[in-house]
Amino acid sequence: MGSRTALVEDLMKRFPHVPREAVFKEDLLRGGVAFDPSALSDNEGGEVKPKSYFIFSFDHGTLPELGEAALRRPPEEIILTGGPYDLRRTVVSVRVNPASPYRVAAGPDGLLGLYLDGKRISDVGVPPMPEYYRHKLSNGKSVMEVAPTIQWGYLIYLTVFRVCQYFGAKEECQYCDINHNWRQHKAAGRPYTGVKDVEEVLEALEIIDRYDTAKVSTAYTLTGGAITKTVAGRDEADFYGHYAKAIEERFPGRWIGKVVAQALPRDDVQRFKDYGVQIYHPNYEVWDRRLFELYCPGKERYVGRDEWHKRILDSAEIFGARNVIPNFVAGVEMAEPFGFTTVDEAIASTTEGLRFFMSQGITPRFTTWCPEPTTPLGKANPQGAPLEYHIRLLEAYRATMDEFGLSSPPGYGPPGPGNAVFSVSSFMDSLPADEPSAAKGTAEGTAQGATEDEPSAV
Ligand code: SF4
Repeated sequence: MGSRTALVEDLMKRFPHVPREAVFKEDLLRGGVAFDPSALSDNEGGEVKPKSYFIFSFDHGTLPELGEAALRRPPEEIILTGGPYDLRRTVVSVRVNPASPYRVAAGPDGLLGLYLDGKRISDVGVPPMPEYYRHKLSNGKSVMEVAPTIQWGYLIYLTVFRVCQYFGAKEECQYCDINHNWRQHKAAGRPYTGVKDVEEVLEALEIIDRYDTAKVSTAYTLTGGAITKTVAGRDEADFYGHYAKAIEERFPGRWIGKVVAQALPRDDVQRFKDYGVQIYHPNYEVWDRRLFELYCPGKERYVGRDEWHKRILDSAEIFGARNVIPNFVAGVEMAEPFGFTTVDEAIASTTEGLRFFMSQGITPRFTTWCPEPTTPLGKANPQGAPLEYHIRLLEAYRATMDEFGLSSPPGYGPPGPGNAVFSVSSFMDSLPADEPSAAKGTAEGTAQGATEDEPSAV
């Protein structure tokens, strides 16, 4: 294998209809990026919006391994533009990897650039510190800790339960570091609230609402770990739902409400809907049966793959198919030792899953797998999945959408290269721009431009 530059350019040549922005974005998301000290933030006291660690670590090293980036956080996201590939504006979530061939650094002119194999390939923009991050809650907590925003300010990410009740090797999803991330922030002495109080969430939202006068924040996502028993006396639907209820009562219709939760029975899903949630993300994680059983042992044991899929279809009767958007973790299909060994097989399997849901009008979306080193799959596959898999997935995703006459899902902001703000995969960057339907529908009417982004836990 030649240089990373050669790999990227070869794929651009072989897949000319996939935007070149998406090729770089996928490569940065799967393999991470190094930060020169000149490109780090000054945390919450500076002018650049720092990485909030909003749910998982999304880094390729533990905090102690990140060097200065552990003390001065990197920016939450970067924007790529220009350079020799003439990139259109591309928002990329930051995943730190000190060993990456990609590096963000200030050039001799003082301007930030992205370097690959030592060569400058684009200009880099960083998010300015939003005014609402400069104000604290009455209990002294920061807005960044309680209600961080991602996707260039589009999405308020409310991880209200920062651990998962699937615990240990026999239950945790094999690519998920939610529990480790909680432990490492606690060990580093960083503020990291395990269960967020509903009143503090409302107070943080009030601050955002007051200072976000341009109304860039468009959606919120309620999420966290799976609840197999109860948290604060509430089951999963009641726990996540009661935040939605309180938010919708206090700020009716201000944001598009989304919930990432397990695939729950119909009555529970109905409760979300009744509380004012508009979009439901019952994530199916990986399509292949054997891999689901191996990678998601907790979900398999408590619910089971077939029942999980059935509940996704059932929830479409409550939310409408367009507003049920299950996530999968793109790339784990190819993780050793159990994954597919060829890109062909992996794409065929993933496409089977896309066809299963899209034929029912349900549009899944995906997060590009970040092989975090404290997870079993990340440990065994520090390089993640082949870049070719990610590029061909973009192609397969778009083709399957076309086959079933679907357009970009609601609540993700504008589609198209140069427009997308969804930062944790480039599926929105790879869809056609200006689809008329992207401005229609329940949640879409107010959508501007992303999710969780969403990564999404449960
Ligand atoms: S992906 Fe979700 S359900 Fe699986 S371990 Fe992580 S938080 Fe729990």
